[in-house]
Amino acid sequence: MKTNEITIDQVREVYEMLQGMPLPEEWHIGEQPQLTPRAAFGVIWFLQERLHVIPDHYERCESCDELFDTHSGGQIVSADDVDEYDQEMYDNLGVSSEELLQYAGMHFCDVSCEAEFWQRVHNGEIERRDLTSTEEER
Ligand SMILES: [Zn+2]
Repeated sequence: MKTNEITIDQVREVYEMLQGMPLPEEWHIGEQPQLTPRAAFGVIWFLQERLHVIPDHYERCESCDELFDTHSGGQIVSADDVDEYDQEMYDNLGVSSEELLQYAGMHFCDVSCEAEFWQRVHNGEIERRDLTSTEEER
């Protein structure tokens, strides 16, 4: 059974709906969810990984909260398989291999969002536990 693949724009619509953003014209939900971006993506993630309803190559940027398609770009933190270009960025930003291990699996829509993330980590604004926590303090 092959259905038309859900597009990133459709997923963005669900993502925004879950955050209480305005719905498309003529659509109303009695009690629209008001989730944080991270919680909203948690719903999408479940639909991806558990139900396989949404393609799993759509990810949320840990810096700017935008959704993006990993098939057409984006960055993922990985302790191994670091290319020359990323290694240069990590050297410039003083990112250690322990940090890469610690934050492995984080997704970013582009290099500048990843660089911003590492700066926030080094400024003490982000700890690993904040990212895995189910609570959101924003
Ligand atoms: Zn981003």
